[in-house]
Amino acid sequence: MPYHFKHAGQHSCEAVVLSCIDFRFWSAIVEHIQNELKITDFDFPSLPGAAKTINNSHNDSADLALSCIDVPVRLHGVQKIIIINHADCGAYGGRAHFNHDQLAELAFHSAELQAARVKLSAKYPDKEVITLFVQFNPEAETIDILTIN
Ligand SMILES: [Zn+2]
Repeated sequence: MPYHFKHAGQHSCEAVVLSCIDFRFWSAIVEHIQNELKITDFDFPSLPGAAKTINNSHNDSADLALSCIDVPVRLHGVQKIIIINHADCGAYGGRAHFNHDQLAELAFHSAELQAARVKLSAKYPDKEVITLFVQFNPEAETIDILTIN
């Protein structure tokens, strides 16, 4: 028996969410998008490093990272572009790259996300660009998702 999903038949969605491929975070990210941001329909591409791929991208439609944003914008009419980086990201050398200094890592990723937002806002001036950072909270044993302004 194949597994059957219901679908609404629509061909537009509210947002595109670009995150890293890392398996540790996607379920928390999906919950956050649905429960905190109240977005139920979104494209969900993932590339190692997320913001890094945007910042390294060249401004042409053949670029893989930009196409992850551009296709949802053009074909699915998304109004919100959400970029999510996370702590201990292998694409950035993991937490060892920051000598396990959580604040330094957060500051670095904040700058990465801000740079990605500037780039995407220039390309899509009528879209809302939201940047988030996911980190471990060792005391509470939780995964926390911070909005980076
Ligand atoms: Zn990663």
